[in-house]
Amino acid sequence: SIRLNKLCKRYGEVDVLRGIDLEIPAGQTVSIIGPSGSGKSTLLRLLMTLDRPTSGTIEIDGESMWTQPDGSPASSAHVRKVRGKIGMVFQHFNLFPHMTALGNVIEAPIHVGGLSRDEAVERGRHYLDLVGLADKQDVHPAQLSGGQKQRVGIARALAMRPEIMLFDEVTSALDPELVGGILQIVKDLADKREMTMILVTHQMKFAERSCDRTLFFDEGNVVEDAPSEELFSNPKEPRTQQFLQAVI
Ligand code: ATP
Ligand code: MG
Repeated sequence: SIRLNKLCKRYGEVDVLRGIDLEIPAGQTVSIIGPSGSGKSTLLRLLMTLDRPTSGTIEIDGESMWTQPDGSPASSAHVRKVRGKIGMVFQHFNLFPHMTALGNVIEAPIHVGGLSRDEAVERGRHYLDLVGLADKQDVHPAQLSGGQKQRVGIARALAMRPEIMLFDEVTSALDPELVGGILQIVKDLADKREMTMILVTHQMKFAERSCDRTLFFDEGNVVEDAPSEELFSNPKEPRTQQFLQAVI
């Protein structure tokens, strides 16, 4: 489970997140929608420990990410342990270009997870197979389509067996005909309910149909938070209504 308490992030003079309070139970799939610059990626980056909050706390399974119970800073070993529960998939794939598809997937299980090479290869093949890329394991990213690169990105995150998966606009860089295949993989993962999933997405139909819950973000706040069906069919806040009218 995830719990955010008054989470704030400021870059210079700009308040990007303005006191987010949020609880996400284990196994839930949550989409985040909202205008450009509203802080959606910043929230995922903070959850992934790629950046630190300015104030407020992030708790994963009841444990604070950056602070000890007495309020002092957590050790780097603690932060690594919490980060190990979380996987992230990026809009622009962020694959290692000099490694094969399998190489990309087994890198972290070996160097972060401590698996032997043989164990990592077995696990890596399993996840490449799961995303439909069993026959591409020895190919480098430059030889893959955008959709195939993103499948490697998903397999790479899954190979660390995270409890929480974060997806930041994972279909935004893809040609339209490749979007559906990636969304199907995400939906299949969500339906298993083995992980908590948070997706920043512009795919409104996907958010509505395949996510339990949707958050509408604006100017660093959660403006509306409701079961997806309800938020899309009957948005309560004027800003949500305006946004949905503009994008749908
Ligand atoms: P988009 O839909 O365009 O991806 P977003 O909701 O993901 O937008 P963020 O990327 O979270 O928005 O950015 C929110 C604000 O924070 C923007 O004004 C951005 O310029 C600013 N920002 C993000 N990262 C940094 C950074 N590292 N340094 C300074 N400003 C930043
Ligand atoms: Mg973003």
